[in-house]
Amino acid sequence: SDVGSQKERVVTEEEWLEKWEMGNIGFHKEQEHPLLQKYLDVLLNGGSGLRIFFPLCGKAVEMKWLADMGHSVVGVEISEQAVKDFFSEHSLPYCEEPVPEISGAKMFQSTSGNISLYCCSIYDLSSSIVGKFDGVWDRGALVAVNPCDRQRYASLMINLVEKNSSYLLVTVSYDPNKHKGPPFYVPEPEIKSLFG
Ligand code: SAH
Repeated sequence: SDVGSQKERVVTEEEWLEKWEMGNIGFHKEQEHPLLQKYLDVLLNGGSGLRIFFPLCGKAVEMKWLADMGHSVVGVEISEQAVKDFFSEHSLPYCEEPVPEISGAKMFQSTSGNISLYCCSIYDLSSSIVGKFDGVWDRGALVAVNPCDRQRYASLMINLVEKNSSYLLVTVSYDPNKHKGPPFYVPEPEIKSLFG
């Protein structure tokens, strides 16, 4: 498979913010993802009160769904509009505070305390700031990362998970010469080499 045409493509943070401003968010779904429903047991592995991470979270409805099950959800999203929309669309009261370790970043937390969304670039996070996670739901995240940043993204994610954690990854399969992405096409051998 020739992914050459996508390798050099870069979507800037400004372009993502603009997508949110323009309502150009076809990636957002109102229903819980069928694959999360199908593999929920794999993600949770029988555990309760887990810490679940949503990289590049947008306003994913699954965050509310998992929080309602008693887990604690942490997300990171560059668009403040997305984060605020998430809380308001679910009628969840929240508070907003700066993140001392990251200049310009804010953390939005549901008043109940079980959903914390960091508004900053994922590359600003580290386990010393957000801790480690028992589970990751990676949908529209690895495939949204610029191809040149994949290695950095995967290394960070590996750093953010506990030893006994589950990582659910959703990718898309299509001819990368026909669409420029995102979502980008990430071939399976590359996924294996990124995550080991
Ligand atoms: N996972 C979500 C959103 C997928 S779209 C879902 O399933 O609906 C990818 C999201 O990543 C967009 O909302 C975009 O604003 C955000 N994003 C892009 N680059 C980012 C970065 N470096 N750090 C944090 N968020 C980013």
